[in-house]
Amino acid sequence: MLHIKQLPVLSDNYVYLLHEEESGACAAVDPAEAGPVLAVLQEEGLTLTHILNTHHHGDHVGGNERLKEETNCTIVGPMADASRIPGIDVKVGEGEEFRLGKATAKVFDVPGHTRGHIAYWFESDKALFCGDTLFALGCGRLFEGTPRQMWKSLTALRDLPGDTLIYCAHEYTQTNACFALTVEPDNKILKEIAARVEIRRAKSLPTVPSLMADELAANPFLRADQEELQHAMGMKSTDPVEVFAEIRHRKDVF
Ligand code: ZN
Ligand code: FE
Repeated sequence: MLHIKQLPVLSDNYVYLLHEEESGACAAVDPAEAGPVLAVLQEEGLTLTHILNTHHHGDHVGGNERLKEETNCTIVGPMADASRIPGIDVKVGEGEEFRLGKATAKVFDVPGHTRGHIAYWFESDKALFCGDTLFALGCGRLFEGTPRQMWKSLTALRDLPGDTLIYCAHEYTQTNACFALTVEPDNKILKEIAARVEIRRAKSLPTVPSLMADELAANPFLRADQEELQHAMGMKSTDPVEVFAEIRHRKDVF
């Protein structure tokens, strides 16, 4: 239903353009900058109708004001953080649905990276736009949330179908893979994915989106409640929140 175009911007951000052809609706997810979005709109003859923001950081909302000025688009963002989203028109939160033309996104509140972070799930397209909450083989830093909050957010996303495509906002996969291998050096699927990532990055190809099934098998941050991982980390605690906090700490100092 949606045509999804991936725009690499800044040093490692991805902006996504979602085009719903039947209605002509077109959304930019987390436009870090306006220029590259406007260029693609012109190239493809599209009109921007919406901006979908996941959280307030500058590398996600930096293009909001100029895009709104130039296209008069509607800006959608987290209800829980509305005051920090420039130009916000529509405030959405947990369990709400948002319609982009004929496509419907379900909204998840996924605090942890920031206190008002949301994710958009387009079930019919198997597409999850999760900003800086879940990354390919990683997760966002805890700037404003606790490990308990982030673990809860990640486990909610983890429950989505295994064939869900994860459109995160950064190309961090190669570093994440290096770190994940220090946590679980014997994880066979992780090793396979890491090898694939290395080949793609050597050719400057994106490693995003990733597949939820792969994340479940290889992303340490989704595996804090798995016995193999706890064993590999040599931790006494089996409390997933404590294990998650320890993984996050190790990554912060990696
Ligand atoms: Zn961020
Ligand atoms: Fe970011």
